[in-house]
Order: sequence, then C-alpha cells, then structure tokens
Amino acid sequence: MTNLLSIAALGAKIGFSLALGDAQGGRATVSAADMDSFSVATNGAVIVATWHGHPVAGDGFTATAHLREVDGAWQWDFAYGGQTSAYDVETVSFPEVTLARTDETRILYPPALGPGRLFRPDWPKAKPGEQVQESRLGVPSFQFTALFTPGARPFYFDTRDTRCCARQFAYRNGRAPHTLELALKTPVPLDGKSRAAWRMPYSGTMRLFDGNWYDAAQIYKPWARRQWWHVNAKKRDLGPLRDIGIWFWNRGEADKVVAVVERFKALAGVPVALDWYWWHAIPYDMCYPNYWPPRDGVEKFTDACRRLAAEGIFAQVYMNGQSWDMDDPSWAEGGVADVKMNRDGTWRAIAFNCYSGHRLAYVCGEAPHFQSRIRAHARNLRAAGLPSLYLDEISCTAQGICFNPKHAHAPGDPHAMVPGYRAYLDAVRRDNPGMMLSSEEFSEAYMDKFESLITLFGCYERFAGGGAPTIEEVPVVPALYHGDFAAFGAYTMVDGIPPWDPKWPADGKWDKEEFWPGKFPDQFAIEFTRSVVWGMQPTVHHFRLHLYDDPRYAGSVRLMVETARFYHAHREWLFDGEMLAPGHMACATQAVEFMCRKTYAKKGEYAVVRQPALPTVMHSVWRAPNGRVAAVLFNWSRVPREFRLEAPDISAAGTLPPRTWQLVQGGRR
Ligand SMILES: [Zn+2]
Repeated sequence: MTNLLSIAALGAKIGFSLALGDAQGGRATVSAADMDSFSVATNGAVIVATWHGHPVAGDGFTATAHLREVDGAWQWDFAYGGQTSAYDVETVSFPEVTLARTDETRILYPPALGPGRLFRPDWPKAKPGEQVQESRLGVPSFQFTALFTPGARPFYFDTRDTRCCARQFAYRNGRAPHTLELALKTPVPLDGKSRAAWRMPYSGTMRLFDGNWYDAAQIYKPWARRQWWHVNAKKRDLGPLRDIGIWFWNRGEADKVVAVVERFKALAGVPVALDWYWWHAIPYDMCYPNYWPPRDGVEKFTDACRRLAAEGIFAQVYMNGQSWDMDDPSWAEGGVADVKMNRDGTWRAIAFNCYSGHRLAYVCGEAPHFQSRIRAHARNLRAAGLPSLYLDEISCTAQGICFNPKHAHAPGDPHAMVPGYRAYLDAVRRDNPGMMLSSEEFSEAYMDKFESLITLFGCYERFAGGGAPTIEEVPVVPALYHGDFAAFGAYTMVDGIPPWDPKWPADGKWDKEEFWPGKFPDQFAIEFTRSVVWGMQPTVHHFRLHLYDDPRYAGSVRLMVETARFYHAHREWLFDGEMLAPGHMACATQAVEFMCRKTYAKKGEYAVVRQPALPTVMHSVWRAPNGRVAAVLFNWSRVPREFRLEAPDISAAGTLPPRTWQLVQGGRR
C-alpha cells in the first residue's frame, strides 16, 4: 500500500492502473503497486503524486496525479508519459480509490437503464478484488457515484466531462478486509501517440458529505445545469408533450391501438398519447432496419395517423435507432462497414428475439448505410402525418468505443461515438422539420436531442429476476433534470399479460393465462404510479379494448383515469417543477409480491420478487415555477393509511383513502 496516495481527510487511498494490450490479444497491467518508486510533493494548494518506473512500461514511465482541495472537495487529474512497452495503452483506470466498508455499504450509481440505482452487493460472498458492479461504458444519465455506509459520512465522486468521453465506474471488493475499491475507467484512443503519453481528457471531484441520494445529487446539480445538455434542452418548447395526461404503449395494427386511446380520451377528458409498436410489417426484433411498409399497408396506416392527429392524440412509432439484424439479407448491404467493432474484429450482437434467433448488431455513429435507411423511413412516417418518432436504444446504448478499421475515427477513441449519433439525429430532424424525437432512458449525451424519453424502471422489481430485490431505484434524473424533456413510461399491464407478436411462431405463446391481478393484487397500482410520483407522465402498457368492459379491471381503469387527471391537473409541479428533498415519510409498510414476466418469457415460467416492507404511501416534493411548494402523495394499498411527511420544504399529515392521490400545497407548518 506504500505506493498509494493517502488522503487522510477522505479516509481514502488513491492509486491507478493501466490496461495494456495488442491486436493479438496480448495483455499486461501496470498498477501503482508495481511501480519502482512513488513520491508525493505539495506545490502550493496542490498535492502532486508521481509514480515512476515499471518493469513492463519502462524505466522512464511516469504517472502523475494532481489533487487540489477546493471548498471541501478534491479536484483530480491524471496523465502518463514515457510508456515504452510494445503494447498499446487501452484503458486508464484512475483514480482507484480504496475506502472502508461494512457489509451494509450501498452504492449509488448511474445505471444504463433507469433514473438512478442504489445497490448493496453481497459483500460477504465477494472474493478479495472481485468486481461487484459497474456502470455501462459510455455517457450515462449523470456523472457521479456515492457510497453509503451506516455510521460513516457518505463518499461522493464525480467526473466533470463536457465532451461525452466514454467512461465507466467499476466497484470491487477490496483486497484488504472490509474495504472496497472504486475505479474510474477511461478508454485511450489507439492513435499512435497515446501509447507513449496521454492526459485524461477530463477531471472531476471527490468529497465526503452528509445525507442521502438526493443530497449527493445536489452536489452535482449546480455544475450539471450550467452545461450545454441542460441549457440546450431547457431552451426548447416541448409543445403538446407538456399537456399529455397519459401514454398508451400499445402494439399492432391500427385497429388494435387507435380505438383504445380514443376511448380513454373520451373517458378521462385529458390529452392522450400513443407510443405505437409493431406498426411495421416485419416481426418485432428481427429484420431491422427494414421497417417500411406498415403492417396495415400504407393507406390504412396513413389514415390512422391522420385520424389521431385530427383528434389531437399525440402519436409516435417505434424504430430501433441503432440495431441491424445481421441474419437479415439487408446486412450484406453495409452491415459490416457500419458495425461497432471490438478490437479483435468481433462485434456485439444480441438475439432478443428468441424465436428467430436473429442477432441484432449495434452500429457505430459512423454508419452511413444504416442511417440512410432510417432516414428514408422517417421521411415516410412524417409524410404519413406523425408528429414524433421513437428511436429505440440510442439514448441508453449509442455509447462506448469502436475499432472498425473502415471508420475514419481513431480505433477505440472514447470521443468518437456520440458526435456521429448526434449528427444523424440532426439529419433526421433536418429531413422532417417539426418532427419530434424520442428514445429510451437517459443520457447527458442526447437529452437535448430528444423531446421525450421512455423509462421503465418505476417497475424495477419485475426486472430484478426473483427473490428479494438487491437494488432500489431512486429518481436522481428528475432531481437533476426534471422538465428538460418529457419523461414517460412503465412496463406495467393491468392484466399482467405481456404483448405477443402474431408474427412469432404460435407454439411459443402462453396457452394458459390466469387472472394475474388475483395473485399479484398490488403490482399494477405500484408500477403504474411510482414513476408518476417521480414526475414522469403516466403510462400503461399493452392495454386492449376488451379490458375496459371486463368488470375485473374496473378498479384499474378507474386508477388510470384518476391518475391521468391528477397528473394533468398538477403539471406545474409534475412537469414544470423542481424536485425538492423528499424528507422523511412515516407510514405503514407492507410486503408485496411482483410477477416477473417480460416480453420473451418462456411459456409458463415466471419468477416472483418479494418486497418485504414497501412504504404504503409514496411521495415526492416539488416547487412550481411560481415558487409554490407541494407534496404529491399516493396510497397504493387497499386500506386507508395514515401518513406524516417531514421534509425540509413542507410537512403534511393525515389519512389517505386506498388507491388515492393527494396534492398538499404550502410550506412547513
Ligand atoms: Zn466506428
């Protein structure tokens, strides 16, 4: 440990490592612990740590870190030089921070999907040095992480990158007992000169603080809201998106989707939006990107789009913005030239569609063949009268690095992916003046390019896989960026039955369905309303016309109507407002079981997640643009519940009837 920089004020030890490699698969690691010498000097207010000489990287190899204390935070930077091995430097891991932990330590990090995640690793089972979690390599929804250990001040770490450099947080069990290691990994471009010397292209800060996930977000928020992604996003007029009372995420031909939203609009009397999947003739998750023609034929599809527009129903249709089916004949027409390639010439491709086994490959930002196909479809859709286009996956996965030798960018350049995608989105918009764009989940790299974003992680239990959830999803993104874009989404379905594309082989379809709400009576109410509490627009998934008239679902339909009206009536908080500190809610908790069944669930098989003690009254606190503060409350349980909320900006107490919303205005009593 002598080669680590010790920052007593943080209770942290800091080191680095470099991953070296070559095209033949050779690998080596340079780490602080193996350096020939280490020295620390203080230069004014700056600590300068210098590591020198390494058996592989060379006698002249030097790594240098600066740490400057500013207002209780430590700003860091890192560079290396004199690397003379035959390897390239592929990744810099700096800082590598070693901290004390207990078995209760939780990690707050930006997941690839969802607004923010608290995760408690199974520390007792983790081997020394074993990685227990990582964020996706790329530009996620926010740039900080925090570590919470009961009885100790939380540790906060951020990056302050404004150029969309691909990066990743990694968390390991420490090599010493009762420690953990947090590492920030940054890919190094294989541009020739970076092999010898490179400076990390961004910096960041770390500090101790007091509080919870919301307080961690408040450290990051002032800086984040000065940056271009927020400034540009905030300048936009989101027009009709602001007035939407509920989204229907529905699938299939016009006859299956249009009447459903029309009926709800008449029932609730608020504006309704349609996120329309499976409008295309091809089956779901294969044959991409060949979306045109529509399943209904051009004429009927166009009539449906025009009818929706005439009725003031906002609609957008699905296309995947970055996936190409490599088992489709069209792949031969530019797929390999466009694909996002690994260093060894392979690429990532996933067969989401388990029936066809067709693999969807991800394209790079430099993908002219793919992009021209999507642009052609977008023009057809705009001509059909659609006001918005959903481009799946871009926001959450158009990230990372690419080594495709056919591309102009340097292999592995961490800055290369995002500009190509942003230019592609600009081209789609230029082709279709006035058309809005939408995508999946959050990223600072793209939030000013998409007017709306779907997020499904108000339903996080159903994605947890079974047992007791090890994660808790928390609304960090709304705490930072609420109102910058319209956020909507939920995977939840009133009858618990996921959609089935009739173009899939019939023998994969579940032939026996139960009345699932009988087994999981609280799942829909929680999943449907939790993201609304977080300030997202209500969304219901796979709702079919017959469900309106089935008395078993009358309570759920009533909840949909009441939620849409409640959200719509309180948009000055729930769309325009600033999320304030949640404070403490005292209310009864209740155990809840969730059915985990996704779109591709195997026939008859599902897992059950059990939340042992979920608060029965969910809440959030908001400040409207006119300064008025309000608490939003929802009792998801089936009996009246007493509650007492104590938050820094408001307090409230009372009894909420079952399945009931309430907005409490005013300040502290
Ligand atoms: Zn590329």
